Amino acid sequence: MKIIKIETYVLSNQLAQSFFFSQWAYDERRICVVKIITDEGIYGWGEGYGPADVIKQGIALIEPLLLGKNPIENEALWYEMYRKTLDFARRSVLFAAISAIDIALWDIKGKAFKLPVSVLLGGQHRKKVVPYATGLYFSDSENLAEDLIAEAKDYVSQGFKAIKMKVGLSIKADVEHVKNIRKAIGEDIQLMVDSNHAYSLREALELARKIEPYNISWFEEPVSPEFYDQYAQLRNKTSIPIAGGECEYLRYGFLQLLQNKSVDIAQVEICASGGLTEAKRIGSLASSFGVEVIPHVWGTGIGFHAALHFIANIEPLPGRLYPPDILIEYDRTENAIRDTLTVPAIKMEDGYIEVPQSAGLGIDVDELALKEFSTTL
Ligand code: MG
Repeated sequence: MKIIKIETYVLSNQLAQSFFFSQWAYDERRICVVKIITDEGIYGWGEGYGPADVIKQGIALIEPLLLGKNPIENEALWYEMYRKTLDFARRSVLFAAISAIDIALWDIKGKAFKLPVSVLLGGQHRKKVVPYATGLYFSDSENLAEDLIAEAKDYVSQGFKAIKMKVGLSIKADVEHVKNIRKAIGEDIQLMVDSNHAYSLREALELARKIEPYNISWFEEPVSPEFYDQYAQLRNKTSIPIAGGECEYLRYGFLQLLQNKSVDIAQVEICASGGLTEAKRIGSLASSFGVEVIPHVWGTGIGFHAALHFIANIEPLPGRLYPPDILIEYDRTENAIRDTLTVPAIKMEDGYIEVPQSAGLGIDVDELALKEFSTTL
């Protein structure tokens, strides 16, 4: 089998309503997806996380390395892409391009062997995962506090067992929102907070101490991802588990997080940190430190399904007769591309999403949706 063509698409959708988090506002979804086509008619889809137009350029740069090569030898191709870009693109956005390609190659390989990607990765430790709703962003609404309460209640009524909310507005506002939301959703729903590194160590510690009474499952990106030691210091001073890693690239980046004892939960972004090939290595590395891995997921059904298969393959940690469920991030903010690009649609039943048992990633791209959102078609 040979790779004969690579098609890269930048998809765009203007949001009906902008929303923001501690760093910036979103008014558009802009996503880069890639289709790799083989001489046997089998094709695979991949997605990059980050600036879509730059990722597209990155894929164009790497394309000559792939044309004519056998996609089944995907790990050898991963190494070629890594080796030929290491000197100028170490731990950079170019890895989002490599990640997109890597995911597409796993999709091809799965279809070629007629196996789900998670089986090819080594097997499914679980057949279903628990999605957590990512939402509760900020807006300019005068009734933000009430809006957040209503949104949180809506997630509970949809059947979500876990919800992640944004913090990082101000310690005072954050504490108020956390208090309100915990009260609104009751004690049985898991609640996580994410500041997107809005705080200094001193501020993060103050916030952590003030929200400890509200049973928080993790505090994500409390401080800048550069400050590995500050993560470790915070971890030592709060009972709330600390999560981070969505800005890390490759196993070498995660090694910093792990060696510095920075996190309880390592959040690998499969569409940026090196694809499924590298995510599997990062998972092995984290397990040797006894650290949980829960991927960061943001984008279309392509990236979501890559994460589903990755999670299906994560070894239970620790192993026991009834191991805990592993969560998958399910972004619930406005994203028409996510909602329509891939088929079949993502379905949550009884608070779970099933791992697809069909070949490859288990999804296809709807050509009409591709056309609708593509900036070039
Ligand atoms: Mg985050």
